[in-house]
Amino acid sequence: MKLIRFLNWVFLLFGLVVLGLTGGYLYLSRSGTITRTIPVIEGINKITSVVGVQLIQSASADERQEVPILMYHYVREVDSNTDPLGYGLSVSPEIFASHLAALEQAGYTTITPQQFLSGDYPDKSLILSFDDGYDDFYSQARPLLLEHQMTAIAFVIYGFLDQENYLSTGQVEELVADGFEIGSHTVSHPNLTSLDDTRLQQELMESRTALERLTGKRIIAISYPSGEYDERVLRYANFVGYKFGVTVENGLVGSKNELLKLPRVRVGGNESANDLLAEIENLRSS
Ligand SMILES: [Zn+2]
Repeated sequence: MKLIRFLNWVFLLFGLVVLGLTGGYLYLSRSGTITRTIPVIEGINKITSVVGVQLIQSASADERQEVPILMYHYVREVDSNTDPLGYGLSVSPEIFASHLAALEQAGYTTITPQQFLSGDYPDKSLILSFDDGYDDFYSQARPLLLEHQMTAIAFVIYGFLDQENYLSTGQVEELVADGFEIGSHTVSHPNLTSLDDTRLQQELMESRTALERLTGKRIIAISYPSGEYDERVLRYANFVGYKFGVTVENGLVGSKNELLKLPRVRVGGNESANDLLAEIENLRSS
């Protein structure tokens, strides 16, 4: 009898702890305030210390063809002499159009991270991703993508929306209506590994909740600024609700990859369509 009474207490206490953590999380995600993050942070550390690596799940075990996630930044004309750094991150609208035509010809279907996670996509699929949320995604990439009936994900820096050279909130709404997916690239593009727990959670959670409010869609994908992440960043990204995280490591996505640290294929400055296709095939056979 004593043992049963003791076990009852144990269950009751466990229930209270779970209720407390869930309540704290729900309250926080609704209010969006950062002043109350401390109990949640303690909660994260408690949970992860118990469940550990299981929090980050692997892709489904079936052996499907690997999926390339292409990484673009700007689609614009830029002078390689005056802006060599910017040139490396840019493809001209003409070259971008040639990429889409070549991918189409090679039999690729473009999908979004949401479709990827659903598992319901054709064999030769590919994800086009755009970092930073520059306004040329709307003015240059969007018309070409629509023309080819292709989709993409734009990883936007929430705090930079409506600033010069960046997408406006109105444009983001239009992109969502067009069927493009929006992902988070945090609030202010910091190196996430250098932040304390409170600011780390704020960058991950506030960008997600604000973008969900703006788009009316679930925001499940994150691109870590400059590809900087570590185990703590992954743990927070997971707890905050991200299901799909992209890095700047080079590679294709197969069943062995962890969903919160997926490699991509970097598209070089004005890289030709032929080079891009060859690079993908190279990665496939490696
Ligand atoms: Zn970035």
